[in-house]
Amino acid sequence: MAKSSKHVYLFGAGLTEGSAELKPLLGGKGANLADMAQMGLPVPPGFTITTEACAKYYTLGRDQLFATIREEVNAAVKAIEKATGKTFGKGPNPLLISVRSGAVASMPGMMDTVLNLGLNEETVAAMVALTGNERFVLDSQRRFIQMFGSVVLGADHDDFEHELAQVKQTRGVLLDTDLTTEDLGEVIQRYLGVVSKTTGRAFPQDPVEQLWAGIEAVFASWNNPRAIKYRELNDIRGLLGTAVNVQMMVFGNTGPRSATGVAFTRDPSTGENKYFYGEYLVNAQGEDVVAGIRTPQQITLAGSRAWARSHDVSEKERKANFASLEEVMPEIFRELDDYRQRLEERYRDMQDLEVTVEEGKLYMLQTRNGKRTAAAAVKIATDLVKEGLIDESTAVLRVDPAQLDQLLHPVFKKGVEAEAEFLARGLNASPGAATGQVVFNATDAEAWNSQGRKVILVRNETSPEDIGGMVAAQGILTARGGMTSHAAVVARGMGKCCVAGAGELGIDANRKQMRIGDKVIREGDWISLNGSRGIVYLGELETEDPQLTGPFAQIMALSDKFRKLGVRTNADAPEDVRRAVRFGAEGIGLCRTEHMFFDQPGKPEGRTIAIRRLILVAEKVKILRRAVAASGDAAEQAKLRKQLEAPEKQYLQALKDLLPLQRKDFVGILRALAGRPCTVRLLDPPLHEFVPHEAREQREMAAEMGLKPAEVKRLVESLSEFNPMLGHRGCRLGISYPEVTEMQVRALCEAAAQVKDAKAEIMIPLVGHVKEFTAQKEIALRVIDEVQRSRKCELDIKIGTMIEVPRAAVTSDKIAAEADFFSYGTNDLTQMGCGFSRDDAGKFLGDYVEMGVYDYDPFAVLDQEGIGKLVEISVELGRGANPGLKLGICGEHGGEPKTVAFCHNVGLDYVSCSPFRVPIARLAAAQAQILQPR
Ligand code: ADP
Ligand code: MG
Ligand code: MG
Repeated sequence: MAKSSKHVYLFGAGLTEGSAELKPLLGGKGANLADMAQMGLPVPPGFTITTEACAKYYTLGRDQLFATIREEVNAAVKAIEKATGKTFGKGPNPLLISVRSGAVASMPGMMDTVLNLGLNEETVAAMVALTGNERFVLDSQRRFIQMFGSVVLGADHDDFEHELAQVKQTRGVLLDTDLTTEDLGEVIQRYLGVVSKTTGRAFPQDPVEQLWAGIEAVFASWNNPRAIKYRELNDIRGLLGTAVNVQMMVFGNTGPRSATGVAFTRDPSTGENKYFYGEYLVNAQGEDVVAGIRTPQQITLAGSRAWARSHDVSEKERKANFASLEEVMPEIFRELDDYRQRLEERYRDMQDLEVTVEEGKLYMLQTRNGKRTAAAAVKIATDLVKEGLIDESTAVLRVDPAQLDQLLHPVFKKGVEAEAEFLARGLNASPGAATGQVVFNATDAEAWNSQGRKVILVRNETSPEDIGGMVAAQGILTARGGMTSHAAVVARGMGKCCVAGAGELGIDANRKQMRIGDKVIREGDWISLNGSRGIVYLGELETEDPQLTGPFAQIMALSDKFRKLGVRTNADAPEDVRRAVRFGAEGIGLCRTEHMFFDQPGKPEGRTIAIRRLILVAEKVKILRRAVAASGDAAEQAKLRKQLEAPEKQYLQALKDLLPLQRKDFVGILRALAGRPCTVRLLDPPLHEFVPHEAREQREMAAEMGLKPAEVKRLVESLSEFNPMLGHRGCRLGISYPEVTEMQVRALCEAAAQVKDAKAEIMIPLVGHVKEFTAQKEIALRVIDEVQRSRKCELDIKIGTMIEVPRAAVTSDKIAAEADFFSYGTNDLTQMGCGFSRDDAGKFLGDYVEMGVYDYDPFAVLDQEGIGKLVEISVELGRGANPGLKLGICGEHGGEPKTVAFCHNVGLDYVSCSPFRVPIARLAAAQAQILQPR
């Protein structure tokens, strides 16, 4: 941690000490407030206490930190007083402040903020005298008591809401704005009651005490559970903490000439730049817009009309009750629209703005790069290139590879929506299609999801406590709130389909049901959401792959222009190959052959029987053949030959049955690849995975082979191993039973001979010693030669191995001298390198990651320090011995962005991953090249 002695930076007209460059110290909010003030935008003055101070809060403790920064904070308050002519904690013109959180990475709504701080009996009276607007002052006071009470004093937010609802009910009003001055007085008395009841003492009157308590609460909120969860979900690491921004209050709640708003410079859902996108509320404060308390109004007239259309609101009603800022406060709108452009030009990205209008004067309270859906991210990035604001490499860096996933997810099949039963309409808050069973709270969502059920989380409005349930749900549906409501913002960040503000839903969360018109939907009923259109349907609608065109295709094309790393796919069926090719795969990096040994449901081709027959007799054949060869005695030899006859017949029969089936499979795959390379891995898993374990199956197999069921049972049992993953598998099988290797190679060669431009590659699995490799390679070379002769063709077939046994990694020079290519099998390499089995690691790996033993689950994100080191060693040794060696990775890690960057950096030729991750890998590879050219 840098040891700077300055902990407090002023901002505001003529005061600003900070700048955008100081973001690590000032946090995003503080740095940009300073920056906007420098640009001459109207920012209420204030100061930022640094993230370093937050770190010290945690290391030194409160008292020592406060002693360190007290002077600086006092001086900063004085400076604000001087600049504004107001006094903190005193009349005649009291300075009220907000105490706001703000980390380097934006974490919307996850940490705490307190508004209207500095109010007490004396300042309330002074404010009333000053403004002559008692209602406004009391409205501010009740907000302050509620926020300070819950954030700082630990009272329950709901207790305040309960009191407010009661007062509203007894007065017969619906909206906060309908409460009279007297009503607000009553609310305040009740709120003070809540505070003294929960804390056992009166509400603190001393503004200085309020300020320091507020500062401490914000520092503490850095580590509140939802902030921790948010950082975990968004992989935000290595930050010092949050900064604290103390800022002069401006008031959007003084009456009809005041307002508060939230706006995006482009549509955060689609990325469209058609109009200024945002919402505001007259006579409101702070989070009112996003809290879904009243229906927010649109910033622009065009936006307002579009909103009215999608909500079946007539133009007349819209004008009367939901008019746009453009109509209501045209001058403010023009000023804001001007800032919109200036800020976009300044930050060269879509901005998310928070603004307040006080008595006809506009104030800017925040700007940051706005959160957006993946669709919006690609659209905005490509548009900004066209607009000349950013270059192509910046555009590539602007899209989060992990987020791309959203665009690859299914959409509703054509036509199914037209047929479906319409339930309700809401806002298209976060795009995509989702279908699932209705649940009414986050806990149920998590519980149902853990049972493997798909759920839609239905809430009146969501709050940060619902995050876990939102993650677990397929989609989110809310009855209240706008496009900037919590549900909408968080869902977009997660790439989760969300329909928000569907006002027709009458949700009764306690009874776990909702009413829509005369329909009742209960917990467990199926519904479907179209988040791109904001529509809710009854039932489970069918989905399909999305179209990969437009800005998405452009970003992919740009990625391909930059990246040096190839991207292949792991696929073993023609339809997967075709999908992967559509996603941009340049070949197959791993074609597993295991599933080819099982009959598809409803398609008995004799695959299962053949492989079982083979496995059950293989050992016996091997033993007898050796005995025959070893025997010097003619009579004994004849006897052994006789014993060998029957099992050998079965063995050869099985191989003969399997050959054409495998060939057919390879032909299908090679055709789908249309000339792209195909790495085929020879048989890999332990044999017991193939044989029948149930009595019924064993009887069938016995009948098939002319054996007794007990004999089959015994054979199956003889195959069981103590540790199958380290047992008789991989090339060890091919070494014991060379005919299996021979059959697979023959099938592949014959397929390659008959498919135009086929590029087959043979990959020998689980090699640990070079002699294992050469033994298998010899067989392969012989078969290739035989097929070339018999088919009268030239086959160019490479032979390589998977590097997945640590011994192979550290003897890679020896193996590379013999091999054409290596493919890092990082699943097994992780398993064997770390020494824990993937199937058992679940019991402790979660704790390990939580404790930080490993930063990530090493089966999901390559452990670069350990397993990555093995890869590096192998790359160096391998290339040293064989400069032409081709290198790839085919473990699960191959589509994970951080691992892709690693593969780029160590100089691999390609990564291979599941079809859906191909675009992610392409983008991640391009980013790696841009950040670290090779
Ligand atoms: P978050 O990080 O959760 O967005 P903020 O610190 O931005 O929290 O505060 C939330 C809202 O409170 C702001 O969008 C703004 O509307 C309001 N607010 C904060 N500070 C002030 C202020 N000085 N004057 C008026 N409103 C404020
Ligand atoms: Mg904010
Ligand atoms: Mg393996």
